[in-house]
Amino acid sequence: MQATITVLGGDGIGPEVTAIAVSLLKEVAALGGHAFTFQEALFGGCAIDAAGDPFPPETRSLCENSHAVLLGAVGGPQWSDPSAAVRPEQGLLRLRQHFGLFANLRPVRAYPMLARHAPLRAELLEGVDMLFVRELTGGAYFGARQEQGEGDSAYDTILYTVAEVERVARLAFRAAQSRRKHLTSVDKANVLASSRLWQRTVKQVAAEFPDVRLDHALVDSFAMQLIRTPARFDVIVTENMFGDILTDEAAVLAGSLGMLPSASLGEGTFGVYEPIHGSAPDIAGKGIANPIGTILSAAMLLRHSLNLEAEAAALEAAVLSALESGARTSDIAEPNAPALSSAEFGERVRAALRKAG
Ligand code: NAD
Repeated sequence: MQATITVLGGDGIGPEVTAIAVSLLKEVAALGGHAFTFQEALFGGCAIDAAGDPFPPETRSLCENSHAVLLGAVGGPQWSDPSAAVRPEQGLLRLRQHFGLFANLRPVRAYPMLARHAPLRAELLEGVDMLFVRELTGGAYFGARQEQGEGDSAYDTILYTVAEVERVARLAFRAAQSRRKHLTSVDKANVLASSRLWQRTVKQVAAEFPDVRLDHALVDSFAMQLIRTPARFDVIVTENMFGDILTDEAAVLAGSLGMLPSASLGEGTFGVYEPIHGSAPDIAGKGIANPIGTILSAAMLLRHSLNLEAEAAALEAAVLSALESGARTSDIAEPNAPALSSAEFGERVRAALRKAG
């Protein structure tokens, strides 16, 4: 197949890890006889420096003319003044809004060979393989708000419509159908009106997916179960702010921030794919960043935007095979053991892809 992919490396380690993922996507294309065109554009802090805008019109138009976007990370100390009028993360919000990306998918799995890097006992991590579906464009982060200057009150509003809940719930049910057919919807329906609407709507949507087992969990008790029995969960769907918090909690199960991919999706096949970590200014420029989160994001891109399931699975299997063969970047290496550079790790994944393909 032919596909155009826009690459927004962004800042810090962003361009370092996207370069590795792009080279592996090229390998996937060569092995499968596909023609992928890559177009790079400025985004985030580097775009502010060059054009005064974290999401310049030229970048937007390249994204509009592509099947998917592969993103690194944005931000860094030089753009971190919270009172600045223009900030790198505004680019992320505008990108999501522009393309109506209402669902953020974050798979979290624990790798047995990396268990010692996670804060939980190894036996609790056995079989951990879950997918969070976080609503991304509603709730408290987008509702009406008021700050009374330096006054003594302020408020934010959690507003959800049935249509907003239905679309993200359907996406989550479909994801569950392709996995272990178990969906957990997380809310705070014992207290919040918006959560009662959430739960009622998810229950209604459930009628369309009789093959999926649906549970409801209250966010406070779910936060505890996520640590006590993480292997119980398959797909989890939740609103924006709960998802923001719970996905970071779940991220520690994987052992390193560098391991985790994500996809932001809307109604169609277009998506933005990015690792969950930031621009890691402390290691930027050293060539040592763990590229796994970005490589697995590229696998999600193959699956969701290009419908290339076999290629996506092959790339994921190649990452696993590299890990099984002992390949480690410094964040997941044993103390005093030699660690690979980002590029060397990428080569180990490439070798595994070629061997399998
Ligand atoms: P961070 O994720 O960049 O780094 C946290 C720690 O994890 C650092 O010690 C870093 O070295 C390490 N780390 C992160 N990714 C790694 C990788 N791939 N391999 C090895 N180690 C890795 O978070 P932070 O330090 O809080 O933020 C740094 C900058 O990134 C800030 O400007 C922040 O606003 C931005 N940020 C951007 C995004 C995004 O682009 N989506 C997300 C989070 C933070």
